Amino acid sequence: MNPVWRTNPAPLCPACLSQLESGPLVKLDLPIASFPTTRDYGTATLTLRPCAVCGHYFQENPDPDVLHLIYSTIYRESPLGPDDYLAQLYRRPFLDFFEAWTAADEPGLKLLEIGCGEPNLLLPFAERGFRCVGLDPSPPAAETLLRHENISIVPGYVEDLEIQDHFDVIIMRFCLEHMRDIGRAVYSCFSLLLPGGRLFIQVPNNEFYMEHRPPLFAALEHIHYFTRPSLEALLARKGFVALAAAGDGGPNLMGLYRRGPDWAKKQKAFLETEARLEADLKSFFISHPRPILYGYGATFIWLKSRFDLPRHCGQVIDDTASFHGKPAAGADLTIKPLDEAEPTADSPFLLCLNPMYHDEVQRRIEAHFPGASVFAITRAGVHRLGPRPLIGSRHGP
Ligand SMILES: [Zn+2]
Repeated sequence: MNPVWRTNPAPLCPACLSQLESGPLVKLDLPIASFPTTRDYGTATLTLRPCAVCGHYFQENPDPDVLHLIYSTIYRESPLGPDDYLAQLYRRPFLDFFEAWTAADEPGLKLLEIGCGEPNLLLPFAERGFRCVGLDPSPPAAETLLRHENISIVPGYVEDLEIQDHFDVIIMRFCLEHMRDIGRAVYSCFSLLLPGGRLFIQVPNNEFYMEHRPPLFAALEHIHYFTRPSLEALLARKGFVALAAAGDGGPNLMGLYRRGPDWAKKQKAFLETEARLEADLKSFFISHPRPILYGYGATFIWLKSRFDLPRHCGQVIDDTASFHGKPAAGADLTIKPLDEAEPTADSPFLLCLNPMYHDEVQRRIEAHFPGASVFAITRAGVHRLGPRPLIGSRHGP
């Protein structure tokens, strides 16, 4: 059979990772400066690719020279100050959202705003007791005089950041849509947050613009155009759990996310536990060469994958009647009911069962074979179960 080669695989949506089929492109000739400037910087073409699955639009190949010109030169002439009426229309809803989802009594928590712009925009958080760090590559951010002792500024981009510190809260207001690699940016937030830390995001709502079509819904410095599904897909695949949302139906989307579990760390711990358990069992089989394995299930099958069971196992017991008389795969033995077990000093019981059954099974073993030793496999290792107290077991109230 001939292999099928795909020389040009379809590109993926940067938000939801769906394969992009050919869809209608948005092409616009836009002035490079989106507000009046002292000189004319001309125009450039903006081309947006759509994702039919999550509604995301994005610039596939933004021109780095145009972006550099906008950020390093044109933004110095930005007419929107922090107290500007138009800016307040966007800032007030965010502050309301933030206040609704943070307790008033959390002084001393560490907060990072990525792309903070004018540093004094951090004042509402500093005044609530947050110790604020603002990150921004633009010269005005570093040059502005700070008005609060709880605010400090770090110049730069989050992708290149070498902060050893970790944060309780990260904020990105109208910042993510400017970033080229949104997956990397969101994963940087994951790495910078403390376990259980929270991420607040505000981005323009592409769905609103698609429906209402006001002029100038696009800008050359906006690389990504989010919808609620595209924002949620991106955050979920970078390990965040959505906690709250606001702004849907309006011109900007807000979302609050909790940093989910660190799966890489959990997986490492899981493998370490498994290796420790294997070492523990090796020693157990040396001191107890022919144990009675109790329970034919997932733990037994795991043991089979790690040990030479015909050499290490004396008998196999299970309570399921339909298993009796059938071979225990890989152990060269037949599965028997408990009353046919033959425990000796060298053949104690080894429970290969979910710990939730340990109590009940130990009770049954002691009823059949008083004084028999019973060992169990748990995540802490292989250990002997102590004798069950007589009072309260059979003759309880
Ligand atoms: Zn998508």
